[in-house]
Amino acid sequence: MSSKQVVRPKIRGYICVSAHPEGCAAHVREQIAFVKAQPGLKDGPRSVLVIGASTGYGLASRIAAAYGSRAATLGIFFEKPSENARPASAGWYNSAAFETQARADGLWAKSLNGDAFSDEMKARAIALIKREMPKLDLIVYSLASPRRVDPKTGIAHRSVLKPIGEPFTSKTLDTDRHEVGQITLAPAEPGDIANTVKVMGGEDWEQWMDALDQADLLATGCTSVAYSYIGPKVTWPVYKNGTIGRAKEDLERAAKSIDALLKLRRGRAFISVNKAVVTQASSAIPVVPLYIALLFKAMKARGTHEGCIEQAWRLFSTQMYNENFLDFDDARRVRLDDWEMRDEVQHEVFAAWPGITTENLEALTDYAGYQAEFLKLFGFGLPNVNYDAEVELEVPILPA
Ligand code: NAD
Repeated sequence: MSSKQVVRPKIRGYICVSAHPEGCAAHVREQIAFVKAQPGLKDGPRSVLVIGASTGYGLASRIAAAYGSRAATLGIFFEKPSENARPASAGWYNSAAFETQARADGLWAKSLNGDAFSDEMKARAIALIKREMPKLDLIVYSLASPRRVDPKTGIAHRSVLKPIGEPFTSKTLDTDRHEVGQITLAPAEPGDIANTVKVMGGEDWEQWMDALDQADLLATGCTSVAYSYIGPKVTWPVYKNGTIGRAKEDLERAAKSIDALLKLRRGRAFISVNKAVVTQASSAIPVVPLYIALLFKAMKARGTHEGCIEQAWRLFSTQMYNENFLDFDDARRVRLDDWEMRDEVQHEVFAAWPGITTENLEALTDYAGYQAEFLKLFGFGLPNVNYDAEVELEVPILPA
């Protein structure tokens, strides 16, 4: 059945509830073209599982593996197909477009849509990998989720973005109303930290790796990476020192235990601390969008601006597949946020920070760039897409 419509952005709070199928496909093709224009990876991965593969850093990692190294990729994500004449979610359209393009280019690419936290999804993935893929040599863990049902207890946990100990008041940007104002976030309540660690910490990553290990699906020399963020001091109360920061500490703990597991196969696991980019996950964090608008201006002026695909490519080409060279910090993390955290960049951002108002936001920050990136996440604002034309909303992802 065909379901054609003109699709426009419908922004509700910090998310866009519509997505443009052809725009999302163009966004995926743009990222593929970026990787195709790079020299291929020497000794890159061949058989890759990406958990959280449909948007943001996970999608970029999948594209880097597939097009940098002709890897077979299995992508896991939780996205909505089109229903009742409403568009599918952006990650659905991205994944459909990626698969179509990858298969046209002779690459093996399959996807499983559903809850990555569940035992059932792990069993489905394992059955598929056993049947159709060589043992995995790369597992990318890139989930960002507000909720996890613990498969062992059946309890649903919610992650929250709250400071710990005391309330936090900061300047912030309301991206829905385009207004600079103040926000006060109440501190975490009992249970908030443990719940956030349950959702965004490392337990599920460990469960994936244990399940894959038990099924004997990890290749010799296998690598696994998960992503984290640290950012500038102004966001620490809500990020690094907040509930999500505790979850990221737990992710680092898990990296060490998974590293010990993979060492038995001459492999490794580690955390990559990535830079702040506009994704569905980051646009939901208070204070961060204003910081990103200032950061983009400072980094673009220096020619060091990167999005997800540039970051993923830097991770693959200068770290993971650069003669196995991993340039760790003191805490054994790769720091792809190095250009973001340069003193001159941070200094420029924070010199401007106190003076930003609703009136001068456009002039003094790259809010225009922020908004353009945000719309692009949902397939809007891409060149050569006719946004006045009706488009087919129902785009299939082939059954795995
Ligand atoms: P994103 O929102 O773009 O992507 C999240 C992915 O997780 C999607 O593919 C989504 O489908 C999937 N997902 C969510 N819940 C799921 C579930 N229950 N089952 C299966 N799939 C599920 O997020 P992102 O910003 O790319 O974040 C990915 C990782 O990168 C996170 O660990 C995040 O902390 C980290 N990171 C993000 C930034 C940033 O600025 N966005 C910076 C550094 C690190």
